[in-house]
Amino acid sequence: MSPRRVVVVGYGMAGARLAELVRERDPRGELVELTVVGAESRPAYNRVLLPGVLDGTMTADGIALHGREWARDNRVRLLLGAVAVRLDRAARVVHLADGPPIGYDALVLATGSRPWLPPVGGLTGERGEPARGVATLRGLDDCARIAAVTGPGVPVAVLGGGVLGVETALALGRRGAGVTLIHPAPHLMERHLDPTAGMILARLCHTAGVRVVTGLTAVRHYPDEGVKLEDGAFVPAALTVVTTGVRPETDLAVAAGLGSAEGVPVDDRLRTADPYVHAVGDCARTGDAPSGLLRPAWDQAAVLADLLTGAGPTARYRASPPVTRLRAGDVDLTVFGASHLGLDSREAEVLGYADPARGTYAKLTLDGDRVTGAIVLGLPGVGATLTQLYDTGWPAPADRLALLLGRTPPPAVDDDPARLPGSTVICRCNSVTKDDLTRAARATGGGVTALVRATRASTGCGDCLPKVRRLADPHETTGTPT
Ligand SMILES: Cc1cc2nc3c(=O)[nH]c(=O)nc-3n(C[C@H](O)[C@H](O)[C@H](O)COP(=O)(O)OP(=O)(O)OC[C@H]3O[C@@H](n4cnc5c(N)ncnc54)[C@H](O)[C@@H]3O)c2cc1C
Repeated sequence: MSPRRVVVVGYGMAGARLAELVRERDPRGELVELTVVGAESRPAYNRVLLPGVLDGTMTADGIALHGREWARDNRVRLLLGAVAVRLDRAARVVHLADGPPIGYDALVLATGSRPWLPPVGGLTGERGEPARGVATLRGLDDCARIAAVTGPGVPVAVLGGGVLGVETALALGRRGAGVTLIHPAPHLMERHLDPTAGMILARLCHTAGVRVVTGLTAVRHYPDEGVKLEDGAFVPAALTVVTTGVRPETDLAVAAGLGSAEGVPVDDRLRTADPYVHAVGDCARTGDAPSGLLRPAWDQAAVLADLLTGAGPTARYRASPPVTRLRAGDVDLTVFGASHLGLDSREAEVLGYADPARGTYAKLTLDGDRVTGAIVLGLPGVGATLTQLYDTGWPAPADRLALLLGRTPPPAVDDDPARLPGSTVICRCNSVTKDDLTRAARATGGGVTALVRATRASTGCGDCLPKVRRLADPHETTGTPT
């Protein structure tokens, strides 16, 4: 039987992961003939780490997910700089902007999302593209464009104080730029944080040299001059970086009658309304689950790889609750679950601790002994412990105060990683679970260096390296991965 022709449109984080997992299940290409079509001109890379490239602590090569030889070594037909422009579902053919059409037995849309620009005067050109003096941050080309303009002392405005806006502002601040972060809501990251945490985060930004303006909307952008706010104030800026959210990239799907601007609806097998077309990652819409995050994209890729190769015919996608992590310089924030509940909540037990002068804040919600939500700012150890309790469902210790203040020893991961469920995320920067590491250990024969190479775990902020070491080899205590 000839292999099934699978074409993946989009070589970003979801498409790259899917291709890897298909080849992991079908290394010789006997089951699946794989073609990946990617609009970008370089091998896939970890977008989550772009702020590190922006502030100069990481390089473009350092965040690459694949080397130049990856496709050849893995029997993948990879078309870089290739844009899919039309999907003929009746003929099961995808047309490219340049080059012959490609036939498929199964097509996977992994087209991601694109930055959304708000309707502020002067921000966009005629076709909706960023106007002169305006940038967005989605890819390495954006980083290069922003870096070319922003040096020490250069005034920069960042519009949008969500997670990406705060990370971007802090990264530009570390480049030495004079950054003003403008956010229309009363406090930063209002979808994740309560007002106290938002206030402390703004203080931390201020300490890091970023000026924060909240509660005011930008009303007009003037190229080379800056941004006018609704109260008439003017923020000088040689560059305005817009981080006001993303929208699923669905043009190809919509033109083919699949999905809408909100995303491409898929079932738990990641199938669209057309059984020959699937969607994964930011462009896919799975029920009410939040999109625009890496973990769901990679979980979906794993399920689809099982289904496309037949390795796991019963695999189904179930959304897992997201954990938001922001680590930029001295700012360390973890948020998840029912973080919006106040101390007076009747829905759950809520505990809080705030030390604004020292930039620390911890709020914890519990249902019985289960951790159901948290906001942790400036206390990385507490954030890690609570996340682990949340991910594993392990009962919280009875001494809640000690837990909140970080005086409880972390759950036994460092001593006994075998106890952790496989789905526990060990490396948040690269979204690597214990299962990923265990699989890689089996494939590579173990050893921390091999594991890091195989999974890229610990190549982001590096916080998880001790855990990766323990999982790589319970006896290994030294050795620097390269
Ligand atoms: C700066 C930054 C920081 C982030 N931080 C976090 C974080 O901390 N945690 C988190 O969970 N998520 C984070 N994200 C979001 C995360 O990167 C995305 O959820 C993830 O990249 C989704 O993967 P994807 O493959 O669906 O989309 P993408 O990675 O965007 O890949 C889509 C690819 O498809 C290509 N493409 C689109 N249309 C076509 C076409 N017609 N033909 C060919 N190719 C096409 C695009 O060029 C792109 O290369 C961050 C994103 C950014 C930009």
